[in-house]
Amino acid sequence: MSGNKPNSALVIGGGVAGITAALDIASQGFKVYLVERNPSIGGVMAQIDKTFPTLDCSACILTPKLSEVSRHKNIEILTYSEVGSVTGSVGDFHVRVKRKARYVNEDVCTGCGDCAEECPVEVANEFDLNIGFRKAIYVPFPQATPNVYTVDKENCIDCGRCVKACQRNAIDLDMKDTTLEFHVGAIIIATGFQLYDITDYPRLGYGHYANVIHAMEFERLINAAGPTHGHLIRLGDGKTPKSIGFIQCVGARDVQKGVPYCSRVCCMYSIKNAVMALEHNNDGEVWVYYADIRAFGKGFEEFYEMAKKRFGVKFIRGRVAEVMEGKKTGNLVIRVEDTETAEVRLIEHDLIVISPGVVPPIGMDTMAKKMGIEQSDDGYIQAEHTFFGPTETKTPGVFVCGCAEGPKDIPDSVSAGSAAAMKATIVLSQGGT
Ligand SMILES: Cc1cc2nc3c(=O)[nH]c(=O)nc-3n(C[C@H](O)[C@H](O)[C@H](O)COP(=O)(O)OP(=O)(O)OC[C@H]3O[C@@H](n4cnc5c(N)ncnc54)[C@H](O)[C@@H]3O)c2cc1C
Repeated sequence: MSGNKPNSALVIGGGVAGITAALDIASQGFKVYLVERNPSIGGVMAQIDKTFPTLDCSACILTPKLSEVSRHKNIEILTYSEVGSVTGSVGDFHVRVKRKARYVNEDVCTGCGDCAEECPVEVANEFDLNIGFRKAIYVPFPQATPNVYTVDKENCIDCGRCVKACQRNAIDLDMKDTTLEFHVGAIIIATGFQLYDITDYPRLGYGHYANVIHAMEFERLINAAGPTHGHLIRLGDGKTPKSIGFIQCVGARDVQKGVPYCSRVCCMYSIKNAVMALEHNNDGEVWVYYADIRAFGKGFEEFYEMAKKRFGVKFIRGRVAEVMEGKKTGNLVIRVEDTETAEVRLIEHDLIVISPGVVPPIGMDTMAKKMGIEQSDDGYIQAEHTFFGPTETKTPGVFVCGCAEGPKDIPDSVSAGSAAAMKATIVLSQGGT
């Protein structure tokens, strides 16, 4: 406390934006409570394979940050937790955090994995978009932070084999949810995004045809730590796809679906994935069906040009009308009007990858209402001012960063995380005024 005001901040959401904000606040000597609803921090960046525009390995650049957070003496990580209520005002907010029972004592578990080896239950792994499997006691991914196991009670059969296998007696299958209460001077919302539900476009075949997948499924399929150990296969028959079509702007720039805005990352993540597909199979061919290519960031246009010239990715300008499946082959035929030649074309592919737009994460409305924070028309957190207050909200002492404010790539999410941290520490160092 400085005087009678708390000397600490709350960061909600442990993706790359929230992690950056937490580290920047903590490094200035203030305590940070980092609340994440999943069992591990890391957010979406932990799931992606390589990052545009440099093709750095995402896990390799994120992992040092995760361990920096876990080792920082000023950061208390509260995973598997959600904010229950916030009262008070700038300089002194009273926060209640609901901590879901993990059924594993975080202070005792060493992450050795003996428990999971004994667990007889296998369920679809949500971290791999349900393509692979995990046990009912699990860590979501190898670099999970904290590196402790969690029991998925919905699928656990209470056989007790994990309890017996744990030499440190860390597992308690009777553990209860708890509530933690504390005071903070400033709050940062960094709750990120989720993908648009593309089953809303039945004409594109997702959910009907096994060989139509979406971009995040593709990210997991080409990831060496993913369910196929990085072998790009079709989910329908396990064959290696030679010809791949990427379909852009699905659940983005579509007024009729209530998503009029550009999702800002789909062009670049698809160009990246087109390049990665050809790196995995260099005698294959990749087509990208797009409305416009938005390569606006530093190095992005050069990356787009490289995809065309060095890798031979083919780009067709036109919105795809429909995807049809060949019953015997499982191949997919795209019907599209090439708007540069005004030709209607039918093009066959082995695999289709849909690029979903991004939307506010589930629970955003409830959280914003509970905290009395204004949202923009598209459901994200409303920034106080587009130019001069992009990380401030209309509520004094509450800040926003990363995709919680609107779609952003990693560099922009990190910049916003640092900017929000700076604003929060101004509040903390001035004792909440
Ligand atoms: C397929 C795909 C590929 C991409 N590839 C790239 C790339 O190559 N390069 C690039 O620059 N960008 C890429 N991006 C964009 C990148 O993923 C985002 O820029 C980045 O993840 C944004 O970080 P964030 O912290 O704002 O949000 P997130 O990563 O979404 O993290 C938000 C975190 O908040 C948590 N959370 C949500 N709600 C709550 C709540 N109520 N309480 C507590 N916690 C909560 C979530 O569980 C999550 O951990 C890609 C995006 C997609 C979809």
